[in-house]
Amino acid sequence: MDYKEYVKIVEDWPKEGIKFKDITPLMDNGKAYKSAIDEIVSYAKEKQVDIIVGPEARGFIIGCPVSYALEIGFAPVRKEGKLPREVIKVEYGLEYGSNVLTIHKDAIKPGQRVLITDDLLATGGTIEATIKLVEELGGIVVGCAFIIELSYLDGMDKLKGYDVLRLMSY
Ligand code: AMP
Repeated sequence: MDYKEYVKIVEDWPKEGIKFKDITPLMDNGKAYKSAIDEIVSYAKEKQVDIIVGPEARGFIIGCPVSYALEIGFAPVRKEGKLPREVIKVEYGLEYGSNVLTIHKDAIKPGQRVLITDDLLATGGTIEATIKLVEELGGIVVGCAFIIELSYLDGMDKLKGYDVLRLMSY
């Protein structure tokens, strides 16, 4: 399926110079959304994944239906102060300032095969931080799956040595 017809590009949002890739039209279309999720489900099966991990908020939109389809768990990665029990955290740099991501300490068991999902790979900072959290808990990152890759931002450089599925690239 050509998913690009379901992505709306919004110029200068949330700030000037950014071409925001809005995937809500893809989610609005049941067939396109299902097709995208099905591709990631096949990939997860191939990789014999035990659990899915996704960063808030759009990582949930992609990861949770995959978990449901495979009857495996989903562990959320969230911004600091959102998860109620003991967490581990990682800080990473943004274009301006920094961000902290957390995961529950017992979310992943050592040796579990993990697939990380998000809507879009941009600079790769979010996914690199998510990988750090998973690996600190002893999980094995067997793959990362994105709907979109922005190839001009070189996020793949941060994912060297990891297997990555991208359904479309800009
Ligand atoms: P990054 O950490 O730079 O790879 O950015 C990843 C997160 O920021 C993704 O989860 C996206 O949801 C969001 N994001 C970054 N750039 C864009 C963009 N141009 N369009 C839509 N979402 C974006």
